[in-house]
Amino acid sequence: EAKRKGKNTYQYFDQKLNERIHRRFEIEKSLRRALECEEFKLLFQPQIDTVTKAITGAEALIRWEHPELGLVSPGEFIDVAEDSGLIVPIGKWVIREVCAYIKKWIDAGVPLVRVSLNVSPRQFQDENFVDYFTQVLSETRVSGKWIGVEITECGIIQDVQYAQKTIMELRKMGIAIDIDDFGTGYSSFSYLMDFPVDKIKIDQAFVKDMHIEKAGAIVKSVISLAHNLNMLSIAEGVETEKQSTLLASYGCDEQQGYFFHGPVDEVEFIGLLTSGL
Ligand code: C2E
Ligand code: MG
Ligand code: MG
Ligand code: MG
Repeated sequence: EAKRKGKNTYQYFDQKLNERIHRRFEIEKSLRRALECEEFKLLFQPQIDTVTKAITGAEALIRWEHPELGLVSPGEFIDVAEDSGLIVPIGKWVIREVCAYIKKWIDAGVPLVRVSLNVSPRQFQDENFVDYFTQVLSETRVSGKWIGVEITECGIIQDVQYAQKTIMELRKMGIAIDIDDFGTGYSSFSYLMDFPVDKIKIDQAFVKDMHIEKAGAIVKSVISLAHNLNMLSIAEGVETEKQSTLLASYGCDEQQGYFFHGPVDEVEFIGLLTSGL
């Protein structure tokens, strides 16, 4: 009996593993055609000024509506896209899409805020990254002042000289630079001395545990670090009023999270910009 049960459990895990492998395979296979078939879309999550509670910016977040698998989260496919190099064309699509939206909103008289997009390490390292950005901005006649890029530490430290040059070029266009997921990489933060960065995004892992003394101390320190370096701080993954109040007491400049608003589609986002949260 025990032996049979053991075998069933084994078969169960075997089946789960098979499903996972199959899903990953399916994702890899169909990622290539997802762009052509226009299966991606962008959602926008507001970023809120801690003091005034006004929307000061938004983060563009990609979604993939797979015809068979349903909604696939970026957590599941960005890594796959990064490994295969497909992140480069996908990233270009994100740049085009964000600029097209901004153009449309400006023309429609929507009270706009800066929209930040995520740039993965491989996309950042692509030699045409800046040229492509320049090209799209000039084609859509959108000013870089409406755009921000979020890069992780790991995207920067791979080639510090290249990163420095790239960041300078982006800033010349008026594009803001935010460091995403700050504190989760195991890099030293000495690179912050060499980079003109606008904002540090405190990773949601620290925000989640902020009620614990040590995590709270880290959050506090990152906010001071940002301010001492003339940068702004923003906390991501703010889910409760308690977290929000604590962040305010630490002097965190901006906040983003479900407590204020989750990511929303274009129509809802315009509504938020027009009539507030
Ligand atoms: P990220 O840039 O750190 O984005 C924050 C993630 O936290 C988003 O997940 C967002 O939906 C989620 N989030 C927002 N508020 C809360 C909250 O209060 N609680 C919790 N638990 N989560 C919250 P999402 O949209 O699934 O994206 C995951 C990651 O995928 C992003 O992390 C980013 O690294 C990557 N990603 C998303 N869109 C793009 C894109 O267009 N290009 C690239 N290269 N990467 C992207
Ligand atoms: Mg981000
Ligand atoms: Mg983040
Ligand atoms: Mg993250």
